Formats: sequence, C-alpha cells, structure tokens
Amino acid sequence: MKLVYLDNAATTKPRTEVVESMIPFLKERYGNPSSIYSIARDTKVALTKAREKVAAAIHANPEEIIFTGSGSEADNIAVKGVAYAYAKKGRHIITSAIEHHAVLDSVKHLEARGFKTTFLPVDSYGMVDPGDVEAAITKDTILITIMHANNEIGTIQPISEIAGIAKKRGVIFHTDAVQTVGHIPVDINELGVDMLSLSGHKCNGPKGVGALWVKKGVKPEKLIDGGSQEYNRRAGTENVAGIVGFATALELAVKEVEYESSRLIGLRDYLIKGILERIPHVKLTGHPTERLPGNASFCFEFIEGESLLLSLDRVGICGSSGSACTSGSLEPSHVLLAIGLPHEIAHGSLRLSLGRETTLQDIDYVLEMLPPIVNKLRAMSPLYEDVPLEASSMSY
Ligand SMILES: *Cc1c(COP(=O)(O)O)cnc(C)c1O
Repeated sequence: MKLVYLDNAATTKPRTEVVESMIPFLKERYGNPSSIYSIARDTKVALTKAREKVAAAIHANPEEIIFTGSGSEADNIAVKGVAYAYAKKGRHIITSAIEHHAVLDSVKHLEARGFKTTFLPVDSYGMVDPGDVEAAITKDTILITIMHANNEIGTIQPISEIAGIAKKRGVIFHTDAVQTVGHIPVDINELGVDMLSLSGHKCNGPKGVGALWVKKGVKPEKLIDGGSQEYNRRAGTENVAGIVGFATALELAVKEVEYESSRLIGLRDYLIKGILERIPHVKLTGHPTERLPGNASFCFEFIEGESLLLSLDRVGICGSSGSACTSGSLEPSHVLLAIGLPHEIAHGSLRLSLGRETTLQDIDYVLEMLPPIVNKLRAMSPLYEDVPLEASSMSY
C-alpha cells in the first residue's frame, strides 16, 4: 500500500548518509573517547569533528556545544540548570503558554519548588507579543525561555526582538529551536539568544541525541553528575555514533536549507489551499505566513481528531492530532487551547508535517483521500445533522 508520511514534526526518517556515517562507530570504531589508546583517540577525533559541524550549523563555537541525550534533555538543562545556578540572583522565570512539554514541565517543576513563573499568552496565531515579555520582566527575573517555532501549529516567534529585550534587561534568554534548525536558516548571532536547544531526529538524524548551545559566560548547573565529559557540563560516555549521525544530518540539512525550505513552502501552501477549498468548516491553525515550511495544521469542526487519524492510516497517510506526546490522553492540546479554540474544536485537530521525502504526488493523494473521509466521519456525527454551510461557529 501507498505510504504517505506526513508526521515529520514528530520524527523524521534518518538519511542514508546519516546511517552510513554512524555504522563504523557501532562496529570497529568503538573506543571510549576518554581513553588514550589509538582506537579511542579515533573516536575522540570524530567527536571533535561532529562538534565543529553542529556548531557551524548555527554559527557557534564548538566548545559552546553540550551534546545531550535528546532535545528534551537540552531544554531541561537550559531551564533547570539556569534556575539552580542563578537562584541567588533571582527566582522568576518567563515562558509562553505554548512551549513544548520539555520546557513547560521543567518550568512547572521549578514552580513546585518555589520559583515564580509567568506563562505568557499568545494571540490567535500563536504569536508571543514582545511587549508582553518586556512587561513581565521584574528585578527577580533570571530566565526567559520562548521557543523558536511551535511543533504543533508551526508559528515562528519574533525571537531576535525578544532577545533584544532580554539583553537590555540583563536576563538570560533560551530558545527551543528543535523545530527550526535544519529547516530554516538559524544563526545564534542574528537571533541574539544565550542558549538554544537542538535535536537529532527532527532533522533526519538519529533519535536519542540532542545538543544545547550555551553562550560563553552563561553557566547552567550540571544536571547529570558523574564524569567530566562535555567540558564537565554533562556526565556520561558520549553517544558517539548518535552524535556523528546528528552532525552529518545537520551538515547536509544546512547545505540544502534554502532549496528545501522553499520547496516545502510551495507544497505546504498547495496543501493548505487545497484543503480549505475542498472541505467546509475547516480552520487553518497557526500563522498564515510566519510558519514552518513543513507545517500544515487544521481544526475540522464536527470531527474527532483520533478517528480522522485512524481513517487516514487506513489509506496509508500518517498525520497527527495534538502532539505525539499528548495524544492518547483526552485533554486537547495546550497549544490549541492557548490560541483560543474551544475544547470541541481543538479535539478535531490534524497536523500534516511535510519533510525531505514529501512529493507533490503525496500532497495530491491527501487532497484526493481526505475530503471523502471527512464527509463520511461527519455523516456519522450526530452534531453534524443539517448543519448549513454558513452555520460554522468558526469565524475566519
Ligand atoms: C521534539 C521536540 C522536542 C523534544 O526533542 P526530543 O529529542 O524528542 O526529546 C523539544 N522541543 C520541540 C519544539 C520539539 O518539537
């Protein structure tokens, strides 16, 4: 059967070059980079090269990269590490209501331990207002953490503007760039941030590896104690194969980013237009233009997101509803609630996230299969009986 994978915001397929670059480090090049004989020196050299590549992808210095076990771990180090290290200076943290749970739950963890927190609202496009950030800063604020782009609705935040405010007020600023690095150009100098999180498997690299870039002079507390790996900032023998694969993925993604992002924007806009034209009572979620090249997300009225996913799966289309982490629970996504959607509409969400493998034929297949599926599901819905076209509760 045809397989159309449109869940690249949840994870991506590792590129062949990535897998091939990893294999030697799973076989004969197995030395521990901290040892001194030659097979170990060999892995240490590979680690150094990978660090240089990852740093180059975001225009950073290699010694400012901390390799981690995931994007989630990078977020945890940034948020908890800074809070613990700077608690004497202040105890207030600012974030947004639509962060990934790795940030959101780290901030809540700190809140439960006496830190003061501000969860900034977003507008109906999921955009943070830099004026709100400025107004929320107090003498006690030690950290602002706002994601570069949202994983569910794709909205890209005005990070450099917010970073300017943080800098002016002397507050450390972290951004979760897991969805942007390798997908749109990311330059830490242009963004003006102090810390930035990355993840391997969101840019055609392997799972279980991530990185946190920490600007020189910023010193989050170590969360994993033990050895002195990663310049004594994160203990544990390095995942050499994973790190090498991650570096290969990033190097290739950054090389192709201009071409690939404009290709995806073309496919994305064709998909969005096609769905909005063919299906009534659908709302595009997220910003119309300030959005990730691969993100097409919607809410369908009178539809349960879960049943839509199951029907799509039956015809070989992989999408998601809510985020991968929250689906399976009955709570609608915190992101969709934060952009002001009522519960019943947030339940009918569908995210189709495009990636390197996505073709025009894939999009045409979705545009062919989705409308009859939606019609069929709605025909079974008691809520949909006799709803005239203009009676939509959504205004847009
Ligand atoms: C996937 C994701 C993460 C978590 O990365 P993992 O490597 O899966 O732990 C964090 N933030 C965002 C925005 C993500 O999309």
